[in-house]
Amino acid sequence: MSQAVYLDYAATTPVDPAVVDVMVRHLGPEGTFANPASRSHLYGWLAEEAVENARRQVADLLNADPREVVWTSGATEANNLAIKGVIDAPGGGHVITSATEHKAVLDACQWLEQQGHPVSYLKPSSDGRVSVDAVREAMREDTVLVSVMHANNETGVINDVAAIGALCREKGVLFHTDAAQTVGKLPLDVRALPVDLVSVCAHKIYGPKGIGALYVRRSPDVRVMAQIHGGGHERGMRSGTLATHQIVGMGEAFALAGRLMTEEGPRIAALRDQLWEGIAGLPGLSINGAGAPRLPGHLNVAFAGVDGEMLMTALNQVAVSSGSACTSASLEPSYVLKAMGIADALAHGSIRFSVGRFTTEEDIQRAVANVLEAVGRLRQVA
Ligand SMILES: *Cc1c(COP(=O)(O)O)cnc(C)c1O
Repeated sequence: MSQAVYLDYAATTPVDPAVVDVMVRHLGPEGTFANPASRSHLYGWLAEEAVENARRQVADLLNADPREVVWTSGATEANNLAIKGVIDAPGGGHVITSATEHKAVLDACQWLEQQGHPVSYLKPSSDGRVSVDAVREAMREDTVLVSVMHANNETGVINDVAAIGALCREKGVLFHTDAAQTVGKLPLDVRALPVDLVSVCAHKIYGPKGIGALYVRRSPDVRVMAQIHGGGHERGMRSGTLATHQIVGMGEAFALAGRLMTEEGPRIAALRDQLWEGIAGLPGLSINGAGAPRLPGHLNVAFAGVDGEMLMTALNQVAVSSGSACTSASLEPSYVLKAMGIADALAHGSIRFSVGRFTTEEDIQRAVANVLEAVGRLRQVA
């Protein structure tokens, strides 16, 4: 029991053993290791078949056509490809996004601004949601793309992408959503949802790191300019030798998530709620994003009157995150919580717990005990 309880599933998940099994069979000399682009021998054909089977598994979870799935190195690259690939074309245009997006969207948009393309950053409401009205008000004559995430990685707050997408359809504007946190956890049907581009990755849903995909709608056809050139793979949208073992891992992880989703969501939500019920009696605690629908595994808690860094140190029995893993290296409070109007001190004293597939009731009990003990001790010192 020396290792801390892992409650940072929103940062990344371990790879499911069933996925590891499939991946290993696509690496060694006896496995399906070949270059899927090799057309002159059986090794290559088998690798191509494995890649296309995985493409179907990913497409199935999204209810997409396999030809609409473009492999990337992860959601960061998928976001870059979606945003730059649409705007970095002759003419360009105005982009609308939100201040609470992942840095992969915000930094790509900042790059576009440096290239002279206008970008509007919407402030969410205090519960963390981006309202349809805010998107409507930001629309201009020259708006060509709206990028609003499906659910936020720090708070788990779920945006109404159906309504935002419907508005985009009505205005003839392309709609991109970053679904890295939601794919495999919430139903995401691209035939029902008015969305043109969707970013996903494997490592938030028990697949390997370093692989993802961009869904690119075929009907009506969405044009995306390649950002990585060389070889013309992926119908010219993304070149580079396909990583067979990563791709089959992602396919298996998505197929597994599709089978487990309805059973797993409520089980994880119950564990998350058990964690909250165990600590909610402490004075001064609140859930960031409380008024909004949230992902089942997320619990972002503000501890009023407690120093965030001292709390992180005192929580030595749990592996959690302050803000997001990408910003926790800096001393700045989370930009996501700040955009929601949460005061700096409270944002500093906020911790993200995220529960996942391998979390047990004993894990939650240990985490609750650690939080109660740590907060009690820090408050006594203060
Ligand atoms: C993790 C994450 C990303 C980045 O995905 P990578 O595959 O690690 O590049 C992008 N957006 C959101 C919302 C995420 O949670």
